[in-house]
Amino acid sequence: MSTTNLAESVGADTSFDPRTGRAQAQVPHTTPNEVTAIIARAAAAAGELGRSDPERRLEWVYSVADALTEHFEELAELADRETALGVERLRGEIIKASESAKFYARVALEGSYLRLSTETLPDGARLSRWNVPVGPVAVFGASNFPFGFGCFGHDAASALSVGCPVVVKAHPAHPMLSQLLLRIVDRALQAAGAPAGSYGMVVGFDSGLQLVDDPRIRAVAFTGSQAGGMALVERGSRRGVPVYAEMGTVNPVFVTPGAVRERDRIAGGFVSSFTLGAGQFCTKPGLLLAPAGHGFPGAIETETARVRPAPLLTAGIAAHYDDRVAQLEKAAHAGRRADGSVIDGSHDSFTAVPNVIRVAIDDLVPGSALLDECFGPVALVAEYSDTDQPLDVLARLQPSLAASVFTAEGEGDTDPDGLAAVRVLLAQAGRVAVNAWPTGVATAWSQQHGGPWPATSRPEATSVGAAALGRFVRPVALQNADPQRFASVFGTTAPVPPRRIDGVLAVPDS
Ligand code: NAP
Repeated sequence: MSTTNLAESVGADTSFDPRTGRAQAQVPHTTPNEVTAIIARAAAAAGELGRSDPERRLEWVYSVADALTEHFEELAELADRETALGVERLRGEIIKASESAKFYARVALEGSYLRLSTETLPDGARLSRWNVPVGPVAVFGASNFPFGFGCFGHDAASALSVGCPVVVKAHPAHPMLSQLLLRIVDRALQAAGAPAGSYGMVVGFDSGLQLVDDPRIRAVAFTGSQAGGMALVERGSRRGVPVYAEMGTVNPVFVTPGAVRERDRIAGGFVSSFTLGAGQFCTKPGLLLAPAGHGFPGAIETETARVRPAPLLTAGIAAHYDDRVAQLEKAAHAGRRADGSVIDGSHDSFTAVPNVIRVAIDDLVPGSALLDECFGPVALVAEYSDTDQPLDVLARLQPSLAASVFTAEGEGDTDPDGLAAVRVLLAQAGRVAVNAWPTGVATAWSQQHGGPWPATSRPEATSVGAAALGRFVRPVALQNADPQRFASVFGTTAPVPPRRIDGVLAVPDS
């Protein structure tokens, strides 16, 4: 709990209105002693939470999910004051965060994430193996999804669902919202009877580092920038704590020669997708490769010039956007901006003008500044002359969270050029979308939101979807003792989770 007394605090996060650039409040940082106490409460809760029945945890998580929707208007309005993402979009994000939390609780109840296995060895020894919660988890949310990847988003909900206490590091882009969420989540968990210490929050850069350094924190989930993610991976490696860093990438789009008839629809969809949320999506399509001679760059520039400037989340992101757009133009020999657009150099508000930059396909080489993510409403477009050329480029691009392939209408995944591109991209990206933009990420059993570095620090993991639970458990094996004594899930309570018995998979009747 952040009941920090300003007098003993070591600084404060300032809340800004991105539409005006004006400061509107301050939230004091958590002091080192307070951080220690919050971690101690989480560590004390870990045993009871870890042993709790999944049915009870489902009640706790549902209680928080329902509280989010009960406070829907208040949360959306406060979030909008601090992010300028728009009340409508934020309402949708709250609903999705609530539904996602319930999904994770149901996945935990189903139990396949436990990977239960028992067997008798040839020498008569009994062996069993299953997954146990790792213990307290530190969560660093991102600025651009204050609910989805925020104080009670995918990370916190999936960790709590498997029985791990959560300590969130509040994001300085929305300090007031974080405090409101802390009160709502804490109250809902208390009302539902969850162990005290199941959820806590710290404020301030140093408080976050203290979480990563504390041996009682057993895993770190981070969503944010490359620089921040890799700094925490390095910090965590000093004591071997896993840091699941989900970062931002340039997500490529390949348009096959068969898709040229759809030029205007693809150009419009591309611009809508890369300017959605002022381009502040980790799944933003950042690069489009189109067949030469069909006017794709011009059509995209025309669409881009129609998009109104919008405020970015923070002064830092706005300043970085200006710098990066200038850098991209320099790196792109053939670069030019969308007609009529200029960068708004005044940061009285954090407003950014959308940009599209033409690049020569041969300039897309490893190490080029063109291939670093630029957070904000900018994208690159390159033309190719024969289909081997873009496949080579896709194969040498750095890995990404997502990618899209557009084929001729009705051909879906039967277009041979599209098929070839999907094959290349499956080796490079966490998710490949055919005839769909990569921006939306469904919370589902079959979702993968991750990818090889630099998309994430842990390519085996996902931060969205059923497999997100796997980050917060670890396997144990028990020899010559009855596992039921130590894990009630091995008992006969319904629903019985899937399990392997002497190597044979046993799945409960649905
Ligand atoms: P950020 O600046 O990296 O901040 C994320 C959090 O990490 C903040 O609480 C920040 O605290 C902390 N942090 C950053 N650098 C740190 C360091 N060196 N040491 C300790 N703590 C540090 O990220 P952001 O600007 O909020 O988010 C935008 C980025 O997130 C974009 O690149 C976007 O693509 C990515 N993103 C990825 C996903 C995904 O699922 N992969 C989802 C959404 C967004 P302080 O500000 O106090 O330093």
